This record gives sequence, structure tokens and C-alpha cells, in this order.
Amino acid sequence: MNELLATAVGAVGGSERPGQVAMAEAVGRSIRTGDHLAVQAGTGTGKSLAYLVPALRHAVATEGTVVVSTATIALQRQLIDRDLPRLEKALAKELGRKPTFAILKGRRNYLCLNKLDSGMEDEPDDAVLFDPFAVSRIGREVTRLREWVSDTETGDRDELVPGVSEQAWRQVAVSARECLGKSRCPMGADCFAEKAREEAGRADLIVTNHALLAIDALQGYQVLPEHDLVIVDEAHDLVDRVTSVATAELTSGVVTAAARRAARIVDQEIADRLLEAGDGLALIMDDLPVGRLDEMPKPLSGTLTALRDAAHACITGLGSEKSGDVDVQTARKLALSQLEEVHDTAVRLLDAWDGDVSQRRDVVWRTGDSGMGPPRPPTIKVAPLAVSGLLRERLFGQTTTVLTSATLTLGGNFDSMARSWGLPPENGPSEQLPGAATEKSIEGPKWTSLDVGSPFDHARKGILYLAKHLPPPGRDGLPPAYLDEIKELMESAGGRTLGLFSSMRAAKQATEELRKRTSLEILCQGEDSTALLVRKFAEDEATCLFGTLSLWQGVDVPGPSLQLVIVDRIPFPRPDDPLASARQRAVEARGGNGFLSVAATHAALLLAQGTGRLLRSTDDRGVIAILDPRLATARYGGFLRSSLPSYWTTSDPEVVRAALGRLDTSAD
Ligand code: SF4
Repeated sequence: MNELLATAVGAVGGSERPGQVAMAEAVGRSIRTGDHLAVQAGTGTGKSLAYLVPALRHAVATEGTVVVSTATIALQRQLIDRDLPRLEKALAKELGRKPTFAILKGRRNYLCLNKLDSGMEDEPDDAVLFDPFAVSRIGREVTRLREWVSDTETGDRDELVPGVSEQAWRQVAVSARECLGKSRCPMGADCFAEKAREEAGRADLIVTNHALLAIDALQGYQVLPEHDLVIVDEAHDLVDRVTSVATAELTSGVVTAAARRAARIVDQEIADRLLEAGDGLALIMDDLPVGRLDEMPKPLSGTLTALRDAAHACITGLGSEKSGDVDVQTARKLALSQLEEVHDTAVRLLDAWDGDVSQRRDVVWRTGDSGMGPPRPPTIKVAPLAVSGLLRERLFGQTTTVLTSATLTLGGNFDSMARSWGLPPENGPSEQLPGAATEKSIEGPKWTSLDVGSPFDHARKGILYLAKHLPPPGRDGLPPAYLDEIKELMESAGGRTLGLFSSMRAAKQATEELRKRTSLEILCQGEDSTALLVRKFAEDEATCLFGTLSLWQGVDVPGPSLQLVIVDRIPFPRPDDPLASARQRAVEARGGNGFLSVAATHAALLLAQGTGRLLRSTDDRGVIAILDPRLATARYGGFLRSSLPSYWTTSDPEVVRAALGRLDTSAD
């Protein structure tokens, strides 16, 4: 293994790193024993090579397939465009042949030739219908897609530059549920999604995303080819992505669209019943309070029953799957998929409020308009309280799995993560949620953990500044003292500042106020595409970038453009976050510490991710400034601090400003 890794590292122009070797050996061991493995490997370890090398060796030796799943497109691209092409050449001799790899995305990412050919466009939603500009823009985009089809070899949406709107893409793509199936589809032989799947089936290694992995494991559609090893990179995001896949939602627009599609096939009278039920939902929805719905709102019960029954009548009215020509079958399949979605969500919602609130497996809430981006219609969402039981049974119960990330230990151990995945905690059982893996899970599945540390010397390269003297964060925006502190810090640093705020409101407030007070350029998330803003920030050292959640995890800017990370407040979930608050309550109902298990754990993960933006290469140096004094003073502060690497820590603003000044001068 070591020789193979050394060859691979040589091919990518790197040098041997002890953490990388230890990780590759552990992955090799996990493949041999079948025990699952969780590996924490800090930025700069070279963890992708540490799992790709043993994974490719295993796949070639067994003629099997390995699946690598990522949370972000950036990592997917890095693997497909950089790491794997280099390894393909470098390892060919030692492995006896060139290893092969492929990328596999969900069916919706590929253009559906049958839908394009049959002209079965989706009904435009109401917002679009009333906007003539949107209608003509979508028409132009669909025409472009029709032209593109003769140029593209893959039909992959990501290869269409410039891209098209989601509404236009929806006209030419289908979900797995809507697909006719290769054998029945007249375009099956040329289908882009099928070709991608076939290619993936022949590959030694498939790169995919957590959502597709979740659909394959949890929803009973076999979307991934047979495989005997799964590697989950960016594993800190697995639970959130799986929860998203297991979340259903209902809007009156979805019901109307399903009814209109059904009306093309079933008796108008039957479709009208569903339309009426959808109208009823629209009326009720306006009166529902925004937020978690712990009890079934009275009028909703009748509406959901009506929706369920009307959708069922439409499904029955669609008739047999095999009857009619291909256009009828296509129309039927598209309608069926939408109707089943409405029906199944109505059934799930009708069951969601059964029993005592502390025993329920699903959480229901009504969303409001966030006030950002295009207006979203009122929506009812239903999500599982926990996905650990599902993961334990359908992922760990089936396939050897390696989970890795730079952030897997919280409060100094893997237990919080292990629990959320459905693996038995190393330090014994604790709070369980309904839908979680049961206490029996202490007996298995077998797994081991490894923290290979980081090649960075955090204590010498980074300062953790705990601004103890500041007031606690308030409810009404950033306190004036915070704005003063941010100004002092960013001016001492000569720009080079990434401001990570706990809300978009705070990021905007800081941007507006500080633009008045300093000549340093400040970019704010939302003012352009995030990728472009990050590029501008990286190119100009004197520039600062302020933003919220996606920046906490998505910025990778090594070098002197980023020497100061400012965090305004500990990123606890909002008190009105429906899932987090329901999880907290469920833990407390079992006598556990809901705050520590849910809110503090969530904050620890985000804090580790956000502050991890500072040191991206061995030469990087800088300061992490946490303005929220509770990190230094509150009881849970110790838990949060122990989730971070051991930076040199101070609460003295003078020391920090002097250090930033020295860094600024040395970078010039
Ligand atoms: S097989 Fe499915 S995705 Fe492919 S062209 Fe036919 S309907 Fe579309």
C-alpha cells in the first residue's frame, strides 16, 4: 500500500505525509476486515489520495465497484478533473491495468430525449404564467436546449454553458419516478442517463453525491450499480443531505400541476376533485402559522384527506401502465409521478401527528417567505427527526463504509457524529431520538475511528482571539461595539478578512455600516455569484468578504488574501428552526441534555468548519476572531473550544491587532 501511495503522491507532485499514510493504511484495513471506518483528516492531509489509492486497488483486484460520495460539486470536480485522471496513469503499471472511473448524477441532471421528443412540457407555474418575460425567456431557453441536443455527447446539464433556468431545464428532464424505463422508452437506446449509468457500471470507481447515495440506499430505487465499498467524503454533511432526501413537501401549486397533468388522461370530473382539494389547501395555507406545527391544524385534516382521496382517484383513473402508445405512456408516467407525490405526502402528513409528540418520528412545519431571493409559495414540509436508523440499516447494514472529513470529532471525540449516523458511540450510549438507531446498536455495526490530525501547526500559525470584553450578541442586529471591533481588526489586517455571520441580515448590516467607516473594499454575499465573489476576494489582498452559511464551508483561499476570519456569534441553530428545536425537545423528553446534544453540537461543527477557512496551506498564518464572548465565558464554551484545533488563544485585542499588523507588513 505504501509503495502504491508513494507512486500516486509522486504523480501528483506532492510529498509523503504521515497522516496520509496512516489514513491509507486504515482504509486498506477497513476494506480487508469489512469494519466501517471514520477518519478525521485535517486540511492539507491529502485525504482524497489516501482513500482513492486503496479503493482503486481493491476495485481492480476484485473486479468490483467502489462508490465515492461527496457533498459539494467542488470536491466532485477535483476528483474527476484532477485526482483520478492523474491516478489513472500513475497506477496503471502497479495495478496491472488502467483503473477506470465515472461520474454519476441523478436522472434529473441529464436531458431526457423522450420528454423532449414528446413535447410533454410541464405546466408553467402560476408565477411564470403572469410574467410574459419569463414565458418568452423559458421558450428561448428550451429552443436552445433543442439545438444543444445535437451537440452534446452526455446530455449533462453541467456541460451546458451558459446554463439555463431551472424552469427551462424542467421541461426537458425527468426524475427517476417519471422515467418510462429503458426497455419501454423509444429513446432508451440513446438515453443519456442510461448511458451514464452503463458507463458507471463498467467503472472501477464511481463518483457521486450524498443525495444519490441516499436515494439508492433509502428509497428502494437502485440508481447506483452494484458496489461493495462506499467512501463518504465530506461526511460531516451526510446527515443533512440524507434528511433533505427524506423530506417531503406540499404546496397548492404542486397539487394544481398534478391535477392539470392528470386532466389530460382521466375524466375531467376526477381531475377537478383534485383541483378543488388544491384550492382548499391554498386557502388553509394562508392561515397556517409559520413554523413548527406540533398539532394538526383542524381544517388541514379534512383537506389532507380530500387530497389523498382525490389523488388516489386520479391514480386509479390513469389506467394500466402498459396500455396506449408511447405518448400516452409518457403522459401517464409524468402524471403518475406527480400524483403519487401528492398522495404519499398527504398520507405521511395524516400519520405525522399520531401519538405523543415526544414519540413522533416526523416533524411538520410551514415555511414562510425568507425575504431573500424570489418569493416562495407557502409550503408544508415533513422531515424525519433522525435518519440514523435508516443509515444504520440501509447503508452500514449493506456495505463497508469509510466516512471522512476534516471535521468529525466534536468536543474531542467521534461520538456525536457516530450517533447521528446510527453507529454505536465509542463512549457508550446516550440520548436517542425516535427513528434513531436503537440501544441495541451498541453491539454493532463494528466500526473504528482514526484522527490523523493535521499537517498544520495550529498553535504556531493561528491565533484564536476570544473577544471577552464585548457584550453578548443581541437580538436586534450587531451591537455597535461589534462594528467598532470589526473595523479595528480588518484595518489592522489591511483587508484580507473573511467575515462569517450567523445570518444574512447581520452580514448585510456589517457591510453597510463598515462601508461608511472604512476605505477597504467589502464584498457581500448575494451581490454577485458566490464563486465570483470568492475569486475577487482571493485576487485582491486588500478586499474583505462578508457572508453567511455557504461561506462557512465553501471558501478555500490559501495565501495572504485571507489572514483574518471574524465570526460574529456562535452559530447555534435559530430557536425557531423546526427540526433542531424538535430534536432538542425529543432528547429532553428522554432525560438527555437537548441543548448539548443538538444545539451545541450543531454550533461546534459549523464553528470548526468556519474557522477551518483560515489555514489552507502550511505557509498560511492568521487570526480567528470570535466576537461572541460566550465562547470564553459560557459553560458550554469548553465543549465548543475543544472542537477546534489547538490555536494559540488570547483575549487581548492589542496583542491581536499587533499580530495582524505584523502579518500585513510581512505580506507586502
Ligand atoms: S429512458 Fe427515461 S430518461 Fe431516458 S429518454 Fe427514456 S424516459 Fe427519458
